[in-house]
Amino acid sequence: MTVPLLDLTRQNEPLLPEMRGVFEQVVLSGRYVLGTHVEVFEQRLAACCGAKYAVGVSSGTDALLLSLMAMKIGPGDEVITSPFTFFATAGCIARAGARPVFVDIDPTTFNLDAELIEAAITPKTKAIIPVHLYGQAAEMSPIMQIARQHGLKVIEDAAQAIGAKDAGGVVGSLGDVGCFSFYPTKNLSTLGDAGACTTNAPALAERLVALRVHGQEAKYHHTYVGGNFRIDALHAALLSVKLPHLDGWTDARRANAQRYSEMLAGLPVVSPVQGPDKYHVYNQYTIRVLDGQRDPLCEHLKGKGIGHEVYYPIPLYLQPCFAGLGLDATDFPQTQQACREVLSLPIYPELAMEEQGLVIAAIRSFFK
Ligand SMILES: *Cc1c(COP(=O)(O)O)cnc(C)c1O
Repeated sequence: MTVPLLDLTRQNEPLLPEMRGVFEQVVLSGRYVLGTHVEVFEQRLAACCGAKYAVGVSSGTDALLLSLMAMKIGPGDEVITSPFTFFATAGCIARAGARPVFVDIDPTTFNLDAELIEAAITPKTKAIIPVHLYGQAAEMSPIMQIARQHGLKVIEDAAQAIGAKDAGGVVGSLGDVGCFSFYPTKNLSTLGDAGACTTNAPALAERLVALRVHGQEAKYHHTYVGGNFRIDALHAALLSVKLPHLDGWTDARRANAQRYSEMLAGLPVVSPVQGPDKYHVYNQYTIRVLDGQRDPLCEHLKGKGIGHEVYYPIPLYLQPCFAGLGLDATDFPQTQQACREVLSLPIYPELAMEEQGLVIAAIRSFFK
């Protein structure tokens, strides 16, 4: 018996009758891009994130790019972020014309080390993009304090962390803008690409809405140069079907995580640490495998048909496209080590207890 890293059909199949219903509604509405289904979903998402506004967009990547555009961040500007994240976080900074400035991670949470941020601030710094990696909120209180002190904007990359909380509240409502992805591997997902920005600032919400449609504020009047960042009505309608289930799915992920942590105790692996005042939503359950055993363990799991993945094997400062930044791996020892040690295991809400037992048994048999 094999255990997939993720099986989306288990989540979507029971919802198929409801999905068929909204599919029919959208088809018969004759309005396939933006419109009522999008507005309804935006209101529900904003409520779920404790934010005043939500703006549905075409993807999580586009949510990040749109946020930078709305803040008028571009050539000559610097944006501080993590080098240990999905490529889009830093890719969007470069696409906006700005320079990504990487700061090393905290080894216990894999998130930006807030204590290293101030040393990276220069007169060109305009914003910080903390990533809530694997579903755990970054150190938002110190990050917001530093940002306010230096007059910087904060864009939360919450693509992996819908529903996650820290002491200050729910992610997406803590910074100036929150960016979400509804790509199939995320905790709330549609049948394709979609994303959203959340914010409490009315002026920023207005700019995001205009930039989403080519910077247009009134028909054929372009205040800014925007783009096509629109979300489809069908995605919004499907997301409205799924949103009411999110809390239950998160509970199941957290229960799976707790079971892993109990069952893996005593092995030369480090289970994820939920920080004080944090509510981790476990988009990934990512362990560290000690003593250089990560890659051999991967081979062992592969042989047993156990799904697993390394998020992420290569730090962003070593990506060929960022060679021009002239960065040196020795400046990021924690990221270097994380790239060598991390391993993500199946954690989706529908994972059967029997399957989780197989994952744990396979790991135990490797260390025997
Ligand atoms: C998935 C993801 C994105 C990008 O989202 P897409 O919807 O795939 O464009 C950005 N940042 C992080 C951390 C992600 O995990």
